[in-house]
Amino acid sequence: MKQSFLACVCACAFSAAAMAGVITVEYVGGPSPMNTTGGGNVSDIVNEAVYMWEQVVPNTENITLEFGWGNSGSAGEYTTLARGDGWYSGRIIFDSTLNCPWFLDPTPFANTEYGPAHVEMQNFGAGDMIAGRWMAAAAPETVNALDLLSVAEHEIGHALGMSMSNPAYLQDAADGFVELSSGPFAGSSLPVVNGAHFNPLLTPYGSVMSGVNAGERRLLSDIDIWAMREFGSITASPEPAPSVLVLLSLASILLLRHAKKT
Ligand SMILES: [Zn+2]
Repeated sequence: MKQSFLACVCACAFSAAAMAGVITVEYVGGPSPMNTTGGGNVSDIVNEAVYMWEQVVPNTENITLEFGWGNSGSAGEYTTLARGDGWYSGRIIFDSTLNCPWFLDPTPFANTEYGPAHVEMQNFGAGDMIAGRWMAAAAPETVNALDLLSVAEHEIGHALGMSMSNPAYLQDAADGFVELSSGPFAGSSLPVVNGAHFNPLLTPYGSVMSGVNAGERRLLSDIDIWAMREFGSITASPEPAPSVLVLLSLASILLLRHAKKT
């Protein structure tokens, strides 16, 4: 039985030259996951996910992200831990009790275990932008497995500011839309739902910050990138409520949309 999860993806040519802060990741362990495939290293995968974000979103603060395994009741969970002058820290927990395997990609910098990339465009008021980039599982070890790289991208996105506990996000998203105020898509209104995710009913299938299903990989899209660039960083600490990755009802919708397209 295919299981789906909320999480989020993109790859564009943005300069990282303005980046002043450093994102540091620290593995904190936790109970080992019950079922994995691929044989890759968790730290390598999380570092690759950080690198993917660093290429497209300037970061002005030093961020320390703990990550490890736990029983979060969802695929992934992000919580802000502390904040100081020019820095903050957070923690990402990947659920070790999933009843589908985690795919631990031994080569997370490549997508060789997945099929061709699907690119989905949508106009949110200021011209077409890439609103989804995803690939279906191809290699046997990825079929019905949840891609840790995709989930790590999603959780790091919460850590970078698209978070229910980030006042800047909450203010912008209060009307159900993130309004882009700068960049090539300024004037776009990106629909969001509770939990600091894009609304999957109003955006194409395939964005990192809308969700992640088993049996697929998602890459950062324009809407993921420009929403994050709108906020820059989390401005409050500690985060009163963690951002949780899995919304089963929403995941079912995503699966349905996926099924209709394939
Ligand atoms: Zn999430």
